Amino acid sequence: MRSIVSMEKELHSENLILVNASHPYHEKTAAVKLCPVCPETPDILLEEHALLRLSALMEEIGGWEEIVPVSGFRSFREQQEIFDTSLRENGEEYTRNFVALPGCSEHQTGLAIDLALKKEEVDFICPDFPYEGICQRFRERAAAYGFVERYQEEKKHVTGIAAEPWHFRYVGCPHAEIMREHGWCLEEYAALLNTEKLYHDRKSGGGQ
Ligand SMILES: [Zn+2]
Repeated sequence: MRSIVSMEKELHSENLILVNASHPYHEKTAAVKLCPVCPETPDILLEEHALLRLSALMEEIGGWEEIVPVSGFRSFREQQEIFDTSLRENGEEYTRNFVALPGCSEHQTGLAIDLALKKEEVDFICPDFPYEGICQRFRERAAAYGFVERYQEEKKHVTGIAAEPWHFRYVGCPHAEIMREHGWCLEEYAALLNTEKLYHDRKSGGGQ
């Protein structure tokens, strides 16, 4: 736990922001700096630092040869459009499983990216990102670059989101590695950090 306690100052780090159905995202007054993920997809944007790390990871594994970005930053309005379109086309159950409510999507932070194996047809909502080949190689190296596979089947009861093997979230290092090592999703990790913070505050607050 040493590393967690020493990370107390990072508790408010933007990279660890928790966004889910009970923690809606409040768009900031100071805009996040967004950059295109690759020249071929100028509309898919990611927060500047997250993109630097993603690019380094892709370079290490030769990722862009076989992987394409599907979705990065989304505004509230874009999330609303995706949600409404999916409701019309896929129905309520599917949509509630795979599309976050507008205001409650991590994509609005600019720190989340959906990736797909390069194929002729890519499903926008549920892209194919298998547990083998280059995609698995990406997954295995992701934590070293600060990314976590955010929604895993065994954590559905915590995240409220069905497994999304294609959705990666930048949380930074060493957080991603600690989360992976312990099998914690972001909800669990955030709760733990808050507990550590309370403990730390109490200890340094008077020593009684
Ligand atoms: Zn996603």
